[in-house]
Amino acid sequence: MSDTAAVYQFSAAQAWQDPQWRSDATFGVDSTGHITAPAGSSPAYLDGWVLPGMPNLHSHAFQRAMAGLAERRGPGDDSFWTWRETMYGFAERIDPDTLQAIAAQLYVEMLKAGYTHVCEFHYLHHQPDGTPYAQPEAMSLALIEAAREAGIALTLLPVLYMSGGFDGRPLSSRQRRFGNDVDGYLQLLANLRKHESHDVRVGVALHSLRAIPEHAWRGVVEHEALKNGPVHIHIAEQIGEVQDCLATRGARPVEWLLDHAPVDYRWCLVHATHLTEKETTQLARSGAVAGLCPTTEANLGDGLFPLARYLQEGGRIGIGSDSHISISPIEELRWLEYGQRLSTRHRNVAARKAGDSVGETLWREALKGGAQVADLPIGALDVGKRADFIVLDKESPLLAARNERSVMDSFLFAGNLSPVRHVMAGGKWVMRDFQHRDEARIAARYRMTVTRLAGA
Ligand code: ZN
Repeated sequence: MSDTAAVYQFSAAQAWQDPQWRSDATFGVDSTGHITAPAGSSPAYLDGWVLPGMPNLHSHAFQRAMAGLAERRGPGDDSFWTWRETMYGFAERIDPDTLQAIAAQLYVEMLKAGYTHVCEFHYLHHQPDGTPYAQPEAMSLALIEAAREAGIALTLLPVLYMSGGFDGRPLSSRQRRFGNDVDGYLQLLANLRKHESHDVRVGVALHSLRAIPEHAWRGVVEHEALKNGPVHIHIAEQIGEVQDCLATRGARPVEWLLDHAPVDYRWCLVHATHLTEKETTQLARSGAVAGLCPTTEANLGDGLFPLARYLQEGGRIGIGSDSHISISPIEELRWLEYGQRLSTRHRNVAARKAGDSVGETLWREALKGGAQVADLPIGALDVGKRADFIVLDKESPLLAARNERSVMDSFLFAGNLSPVRHVMAGGKWVMRDFQHRDEARIAARYRMTVTRLAGA
């Protein structure tokens, strides 16, 4: 059998093949886990609504274990910056084994929720005092191993993190384990690229404008090793960051980035919350993706992205679960729309013209944007793409009496019991009948790990 001969044949009652649902769609899956043209007879019947799994374009895996632990009021005004101190204290306790146990649990939860891919924005590189591990990429390898255990596709984005503020100050004692100079970072990338496969891609992440000194900026973005593949960056998440950027660089963060970096379709601007109308238009026209994380942005009190104007200008979006206080593409997309409704006092904001479905618009746009900055062939049930799909339970009461026009809106906007029943990722069934293939073992190890962390 050749490497690309079909090993599965499927016939789906209804499959989402953009821009619409198709009845009795047939397709094959080859031994590399990619979709092929249908061939042969007797396909397995997928009795439900089949749609591409969602890419998750922004994750800090270790933060899964501190979800819910920063919700008690402190002595002063709580903000993103006080949350960050809690997070730094937690990060000090994470080592490669701990990270693998947390990330594997997180990735199982992602798959069960309908995410079949994750971009891991990874900055815990070294030991807590900044000393490299004996194997310098040990923490990155823990994430690759966790993704393999869970069966999720991974775009690993090691983060370049050089300074502690816009003024170029050195990293604080709690930030030392994040730091690399440019040469060390390029070596890390080179080492990790040896681990690329059908399931793992390695890209570039720049932590934020404040973490890379202005004098280093051009050398970084123009470096030969960074000219291919995705580039992700945190930007304009907080008003304080906008003010600091204006004070030190004389421009707002997104304005500065668009003026100083070759921002195009390869770039993912994570959050991009605080934009002027001009920045919104320019970002939309750049071809880059806005990486929106609505539940985290709500949890941290960031603000609201100007979605309506950005989409009207043709802007591209994707979603991420970021700090993992929620792990659900339903909830990210629902709150993306609800934030707009609350602030504009209008309904159906994401839909562009009369008759458009909000659910279809959001799922479609997040698939496309997520796939664009994942640098893997994902996000569609087309020949050559990874066989990453979810099957919605046709028995779910939430979807009873729904049809092609209404099912996606009910999936995203009705109830709280996820109807995601089966999940295939990379041509393998990772979840059947709501049960992940290895969830009991991975959850048991996770419980032991966080119990040990709590006592540390
Ligand atoms: Zn982030």
